[in-house]
Order: sequence, then structure tokens, then C-alpha cells
Amino acid sequence: NPAFALPFAPLKVTERFMPNLSFVTPTRNSPWGTYLSQIDAVEPYLGHLARWVETLRRPKRALIVDIPIEMDNGSIAHFEGYRVQHSLTRGPGKGGVRYHPDVTLEEVMALSAWMTIKNAAVNLPYGGAKGGIRVDPKLLSLKELEKMTRRYTSEIGIIIGPQQDIPAPDVNTNGQIMAWMMDTYSMNTGATATGVVTGKPIELGGSLGRVAATGRGVFVVGREAMRRLGQPLEGARIAVQGFGNVGSIAAKLFAANGAKVVCVQDHTGTILNENGFDMASLLAHVATYKGVAGFTGADKIDDENFWDVASDVLIPAALEGQITAERAQRLKTRLVLEGANGPTTPDGEAVLADRGIVVVPDVIANAGGVTVSYFEWVQDFSSFFWTEDEINVRLDKIMIGAFKHIWETSELHKITLRTAAFTVACTRVLQAREERGLYP
Ligand code: GLU
Repeated sequence: NPAFALPFAPLKVTERFMPNLSFVTPTRNSPWGTYLSQIDAVEPYLGHLARWVETLRRPKRALIVDIPIEMDNGSIAHFEGYRVQHSLTRGPGKGGVRYHPDVTLEEVMALSAWMTIKNAAVNLPYGGAKGGIRVDPKLLSLKELEKMTRRYTSEIGIIIGPQQDIPAPDVNTNGQIMAWMMDTYSMNTGATATGVVTGKPIELGGSLGRVAATGRGVFVVGREAMRRLGQPLEGARIAVQGFGNVGSIAAKLFAANGAKVVCVQDHTGTILNENGFDMASLLAHVATYKGVAGFTGADKIDDENFWDVASDVLIPAALEGQITAERAQRLKTRLVLEGANGPTTPDGEAVLADRGIVVVPDVIANAGGVTVSYFEWVQDFSSFFWTEDEINVRLDKIMIGAFKHIWETSELHKITLRTAAFTVACTRVLQAREERGLYP
């Protein structure tokens, strides 16, 4: 009826009922923008489940907390903390807590969403969550770090719990911080709840093999990918960015299995040795001096030149957004093995695909950590603990099986390993979504 004609073009259904989120302004290559472009890429492979895909484009719940603490000098400092539960569809939230001066709500949202995908890609019975505090922990005393951790835990206590959401270590957090979190939550609830966090010290219900698990998973998945690409491990040249818990252990395992670690970059600098580092002395140096700078068995090079070093396998194991289009253009490698979360931008990814450089995505490559976190949580429930050997055998089996499934999915649809991993994971999440149905 023309009498009712609108004076403007009608909005599409998605525009009317699904406006963009108001609380973040992602750009194409920012963390949440990167995640959204990965969801766009998987949508055509979801079949009838695509009806539910919008679920994945918004976090279920995001909590922002103020963390005031009294500093050693008597002043009061405030820090901004977050806990985002992206999805609780397949089980409780699960994911680490990051302390870093650049942490933002947008970053934590993306990291929580990648946990949803990661947990589903390896078929762990979890949703996805992540937390963080916008702080440089190196500037805090141990006492201040403890106070900040305890107050943060107390503030997010309204949404975490062994059956609700289980934090774990991430960048700049460790077993000691998990011990304080476990204690604070237990004090507040009146019962020792070991299952509220994972990555705890062994004495407090931690699991053998948890510290090395992420690096071990990176190695196992990398080895599987190399085998399928016909790249021998023996003599393979490895370059690693980030030499923390993930990069150092992955590098150590590659070296122990015949590969040559030729270049390492961390926050203190970049070192190169064409013949491969002596890993025992490098690890000892880093343990003493807290960084690779000053290591004598290598040449120091400019940080930006890290991306020009010839390698067979490049392992970004630091932060997001490292492989930009410009760096992707310069890379001289065959395989990118993502130890970090979100190290490749959408523009970088397009260049890598164009150049035929294979990317093993974060959501499978670094899933070893959360897999052993799952074992820790299960052991805490039964208070019955497994041997390190049992842990590692189970971990390897899950990683190899999950990688095989993703590889075959990528061959079937002729899609990248990332889109294949998202296909496997999003199908699981959205299948569960459909079966649970919408409440009310
Ligand atoms: N922070 C790790 C990750 O990004 C581990 C998370 C966990 O164990 O829950 O996967």
C-alpha cells in the first residue's frame, strides 16, 4: 500500500535486529575485528547451523571491574580488570587471565572468543572465557601483585566457579597467581575449591605436565603438519618470537628432535645463529637474565629483521597482530605455527594464503595448555592424580586426533586450516546451541 510507503529504504533484518555492539569499536585488523573476519570466513561451511552464527559475534557476558589497592608507599592505585564469557553453550567458561599494560575489553573479548573455538576444536566440554588486568606487573612489588590478584578474584567472584568459569595462566600470570586466586575464591565461599582455577602449583591440586603442555602441543601439532607437508624435522630451521612458557618449551622440543632453532626474539631483543643455538645454554641464560639479550652463542640483530630470517617453521609465540600484510610479504618460511593467540591479522593471512605459506592456527596449535587444564580440573574433582606419563600420552592423543580431523576438513572443502578448525569448532558450538534451544 503506497500510503504506507516509508520515506527511507527499509533496513535489512540484520540491521534492524542486530546492530553492532556499542561497547567496542573494532577495526579490520584489531583483535575483535580479526575474530569477526574469521567468523565471516566460516559461515558458508556451517550448513543449516548458519542460522545461529550471530551468536558467535557477541560475547554472552562481559564484566568490567575496578581494582583499588593500597601500594607499598601508602598511595591508592586503581586498575581496570575484565572477565568475558564469550560462550557457555558447551559447558563452563574456560580461559586464562592476562596481566599486560595494553589489555583492553576488545582484546579480552577476542581472546575469550578464541577460547570458545579452541575448546570446541579439541572437543573439551567447555565454553570460552578470558580475563585480564590493564597493568604492567613488572612495576609491582610481590605484595602489590598479590593484593591486586586477590581483589580482582574477589570482584569477578560473582561469575567464576568450578562449574561456572575456570581461569588459568596466560601472558604474565603463573602458578603463584593461580594459588592466590584459588585461596581468595575459597576464603570467600567458605570451602577449599581447587577446581576454580587451573595451572596451580602441584601441591594445591595442580597437574603434572601443565606448565609444559602448551609448548608440547605446539611441537606435536607442528610435527604432524610437517609430516603431511613432507618437511623433515631433522635439520629444519625454526624461528621463534616470544620465549616465555610457550615459545621456549616448543623450541626446546624442536631442538631435542633434530631441528635447528636459528632465531629467537623476545622483549629484550633478537638473536640469530645460522647453525642453531645450543638450547641448554640459551635456556640457562634466559633463566638467569630474564631474556635472550646478551646471549653469547649468537649474533644480535635488529628486531624488525626477525621477519626476514629464512626458516622452515616460524612460531609466533608472543602477542596478537604480529604478522601484518607487510611482514607477511617479507616472510621466508614454509609454515607458520601459531603458539600465540591471534598473531596473524586478516590482511597478513590473505598475503600468506596468496604466497602458499601454510598456517597452523592458534586454536589448534596452542590448545595443549587448556587440554591439560581440563585434565587438572577433572583430577581436582576426583582428588585422584595421574602420572606425568599418563598426562602426556593423553595430551598427544587428543592433539594428534584433533589436528587430523581439521586437516581432513581442510582438504575436503579446499579451505585453510584456520577456516577448517573454525568449521569443526563452530559446528560443535552451534549444534549444541540448536539442541539446547533459546530460553525462554
Ligand atoms: N591461556 C591459555 C590459552 O590461551 C590456557 C587457558 C586455560 O588453560 O584455560 O589457551
